[in-house]
Amino acid sequence: MTDPRDRIELPGGPHYSLEPTAPHERAVARYLRGQYIALRHFSPAEFGEDWPRMSVALLARLDLFRERLGSPVIISPAPGALGRQLGASDTSQHNIDRWGEVRAADVMLPRTDLRDRATGEAVVQIARGLFGGVGLYLDWQPHNGLHLDVRGYRRSGLPYPTEVATWSRVAGQYVALDRAWDVAA
Ligand SMILES: [Zn+2]
Repeated sequence: MTDPRDRIELPGGPHYSLEPTAPHERAVARYLRGQYIALRHFSPAEFGEDWPRMSVALLARLDLFRERLGSPVIISPAPGALGRQLGASDTSQHNIDRWGEVRAADVMLPRTDLRDRATGEAVVQIARGLFGGVGLYLDWQPHNGLHLDVRGYRRSGLPYPTEVATWSRVAGQYVALDRAWDVAA
C-alpha cells in the first residue's frame, strides 16, 4: 500500500503539469509534448537525446525523488539508461518502441551508500512512494544505483501507483529487494 503521505500534490492535478513560473522553481522549464515541466534538480541536458521523449510523469517523480533524498542523483552513464529501442513486444519501461516515451531511468547516487542497509532501506522507502517499479543495483559501477519507472500509475487512476514492483541485483544475481543486504554482506 502506498502511504497517503506520499501522494504527490502537483499544480495541475493528475496530469503532472507544472507551472513554469512558480517562484521557487529554477528557471528550468521546457514545453514538452504539450505540457510544461519545471524541474528543480535536473536540466534537460542531463537527459541527452532522450529529453524530448521523456515521460512527464517520470520526470516529475525523478525531481521529487531527488528533492526528498536531499543528495545528488545522476543519470547512469551506461548506454540505455534512459530510452531503448527494443521492438514493440518488449515490455521494458525503457522501451520507446512499446510505450512511445521513456518511462524508466537508471540512476546513480554518488553520495549515498546504498550498500549500507539503513541508508539503502531509507532510499528505497522514498522511491516506493513515487515509482511503480524500483530496482536496487548494488553491482553497478562507479556508483550503486536504482532503476526507477512509472509502471502502473495510469492503471491505478491515482497520481501514484497502488502496487510497486521491486527487485535487486547483487554481484550479477537477482534477489528479492529486502534480501539484497543479506546477500551483499
Ligand atoms: Zn532500468
